[in-house]
Amino acid sequence: MDQILPMLDLLTPLHVSTDEVSRMRPPLVPLATLIGRELRNEKIEKPYVKYGQAALAKKGEDYFLIKPDCQRVAGDLSTSFSVFAIFDGHNGISAAIFAKEQLLDNVLSAIPQDISREEWLQALPRALVAGFVKTDIEFQQGGETSGTTVTFVIIDGWTVTVASVGDSRCILDSQGGVVSLLTVDHRLEENVEERERVTASGGEVGRLNVFGGNEVGPLRCWPGGLCLSRSIGDTDVGEFIVPIPHVKQVKISNFGGRLVIASDGIWDALSSDMAAKSCRGLPAELAAKLVVKEALRSRGLKDDTTCLVVDIIPSDILFLPPIPRKKHNMFSSLLFGKKALSSVSKSTNKLSAVGVVEELFEEGSAVLAERLGKDFPVNTNSGIHRCAVCQVDQTPADGLSVNSGSFFSPGSKPCEGPFLCSNCRKKKDAMEGKRPSRTTVTA
Ligand SMILES: [Zn+2]
Repeated sequence: MDQILPMLDLLTPLHVSTDEVSRMRPPLVPLATLIGRELRNEKIEKPYVKYGQAALAKKGEDYFLIKPDCQRVAGDLSTSFSVFAIFDGHNGISAAIFAKEQLLDNVLSAIPQDISREEWLQALPRALVAGFVKTDIEFQQGGETSGTTVTFVIIDGWTVTVASVGDSRCILDSQGGVVSLLTVDHRLEENVEERERVTASGGEVGRLNVFGGNEVGPLRCWPGGLCLSRSIGDTDVGEFIVPIPHVKQVKISNFGGRLVIASDGIWDALSSDMAAKSCRGLPAELAAKLVVKEALRSRGLKDDTTCLVVDIIPSDILFLPPIPRKKHNMFSSLLFGKKALSSVSKSTNKLSAVGVVEELFEEGSAVLAERLGKDFPVNTNSGIHRCAVCQVDQTPADGLSVNSGSFFSPGSKPCEGPFLCSNCRKKKDAMEGKRPSRTTVTA
């Protein structure tokens, strides 16, 4: 079943020489320049975002997206943000390609126009939920059966927002050497909460039965036999496999940090700590190659393996630290900021603040109404309502608010909560097990 595609052009670059490492290290900033900035107490500017990517294909079902030059307001460079994403497809590639091409537009179309940067960042979690669900509905309308994980990262200044379904992790290696997970693994085998949700929504969870009742492999949901509990696509699997992402938004410290986003080919071989440590102190492009190389070394090429490394670097830091030599030397593995330069020599206590990551938002509920919120803006003046998921305008008679009662009793307050068009409302009910899933309908 697994078609083995030709290896990508990465075998050679995976052999990393010390020459290459020193060539890739940019020149140092004169200390006087750094001190001058410190004295002038310049306001903290937007960080640089530098990135690298590496992959080895076995099935050819991994896709990724790198868009470093998006703008909230077209033509205004000060409103720039960047997007990095990984799509690990299964049962074909069409869902991964579809999500790669449509998801960003669908997310952005769910954000109101003419709002401030702060409002935009606050609107992102909800827009990500709407964009994921819209993309899933649109893909399923095409009738194809493949599915995909999605890990979708938006970086705006120091704020990182990650939305994910499936098991392509994103980790953050902050400057203090603290590694944190920004995603949740939606694997039935490992996620009790998701098992309970799937069962409550009408699915069954169990292992594959072979040879007269012997159970093999990881926990899967039936019908469908998928090991994941959330994905985009999977038209032939029950609706209890939902596209509603776990969303986490953090603000990293002004010392910067590194994101490692990768498909399960990496995470089945390496822990978060191992992945972070394997590439510390190296430029992002080299780091991505090293992570793939390390995963390959420990486990061989068992699966598609894709890795994006994204460094968020203070704008006045133009150099990377030397490669760590001592074992427990925490500082040598950091990207030094101007504050780190001054504090390293003074005391280690101050560095505890270096790794501080401020959590702004985290929500993983699979209940759509909870994720879209009750305070969703509804334009009641015109009598026309915009669907909170697909952004289609409908009159209230055609659709219903997400928190209103039964579909057939609009007497209960139809305008309370976010409005859903009839199509998206059907999707919502199906995901919650309140309607027969597609499989039953078409069987
Ligand atoms: Zn809709």
